[in-house]
Amino acid sequence: MAKLTFYGGVGEIGGNKILVEDRDARVWLDMGAPFDLGEEYFVEFLQPRDRFGLRDYFALDLMRRIPGLYSSEALDPADMAWEPPAFSAIFITHVHYDHTQQLRFVDPNIPVHLGEGARTILESLDTTARAPFLKLGTHAYQTFRSGQGTTVDGLEVEPIHVDHSAPAAYGYLVHTSEGTIAYTGDLRHHGPKKALTEDFITAAAAAKPIVLITEGTRVTPDDPRGTLTEADVKADAIRLLTPLKEKLAIVTFPGRDVDRIRTFFEAAQAVGRKFVVNAKTAHLLLTLQKDTHIAVPDVTRENDLILFDRLMRKTDPWEKELQAKLKDRVVTAEQIAARPSDYLVQLDFWHLPELVDLRPPPGSPFIHSKSEPFEEDDVNDAVLQHWLDRFGLQRHQLHASGHLSEREVGEMIRTIDAKAVMPVHTQHGERFTQLARRVVQPIRFEPMTVG
Ligand SMILES: [Zn+2]
Repeated sequence: MAKLTFYGGVGEIGGNKILVEDRDARVWLDMGAPFDLGEEYFVEFLQPRDRFGLRDYFALDLMRRIPGLYSSEALDPADMAWEPPAFSAIFITHVHYDHTQQLRFVDPNIPVHLGEGARTILESLDTTARAPFLKLGTHAYQTFRSGQGTTVDGLEVEPIHVDHSAPAAYGYLVHTSEGTIAYTGDLRHHGPKKALTEDFITAAAAAKPIVLITEGTRVTPDDPRGTLTEADVKADAIRLLTPLKEKLAIVTFPGRDVDRIRTFFEAAQAVGRKFVVNAKTAHLLLTLQKDTHIAVPDVTRENDLILFDRLMRKTDPWEKELQAKLKDRVVTAEQIAARPSDYLVQLDFWHLPELVDLRPPPGSPFIHSKSEPFEEDDVNDAVLQHWLDRFGLQRHQLHASGHLSEREVGEMIRTIDAKAVMPVHTQHGERFTQLARRVVQPIRFEPMTVG
């Protein structure tokens, strides 16, 4: 008998953490943290005490006590005894926080399977993360390529690539003794690699699954995520920047979105500007040179791609190394301010004070290439807007979502035609009854029988 237990991703966007048990096998699909974990107790600098591992998380019921999952390092300061690993493996769909973040508490001896590109990206993120809670630590990573099944404790898990807003993203076909469970991870059908998503849907349909566990980020009565494709973002950016000859162009986008880095690099080239990236982005591009399957601009060679030197007094070793490698390819705020029309600058929220030295000419465009804020009282967004107002910057929203639209989710469900559909990573599980013949709503922490 196969069983599914949902520890996260139920009635929420993110935090996916799904346990599949079949005979001797106990396998996790994703190990994410919810974006709002602990927000009723923690805010800004008030955070769980990192030195005490899971202690605060357990005390406040923010995390479940799951025997045989956590590392002794995470458990020693908490009131739970360490036990030897009781799980066969963890399969990660992609590198986003809401699918990976709780790996940091996991016993390093539990094998973690993921795409080669995904491991490379996690390596770079771990190196460049400044906050300790963003570091996932060491794990028994094992990489695969699409279609390469792995059997763990008698259970075959087959990864199939999908297109998403992070490269090296996969869905899984878990071939249990009761039949196949198909799990989408996060996916979209309007990115540069939409054929990958089609491959997943075709393979899932061919497996005639008993259950389809699907994301439903955009399954909602009012989809705020817009309908732009990645190609639209590039075309719109070029159209926007072409007439703005005397201005400084500025952009902000999610750091793990390699497609978006490429999009703005190409847009900058098309309008005759150099693309200035921050150190984390440069490190990610450099690290990805190792993975020949993900095409990225070469930060050591491309003339139009340079590193923003923020004149940090104390730089981390990785940053020193990066600067040594790219020594002729750095630019300071002073240099940018002298010739604003030569550059498109990546500027993260946390780096907004650089505007003081960048001195953008009033009316310069600020491209917000991320999801729009979901809440009207978003504090960070209000702060961002004050900076834009202060420096007379024009805000432009240009973003392509990483997720299927509601209509596309419905089409996928009809094509795969699983016996039952279980919605995760959605706030509107109830809407799936309009999209599928049989919907089974996952119930958090409750083992559910499959078949
Ligand atoms: Zn997600």
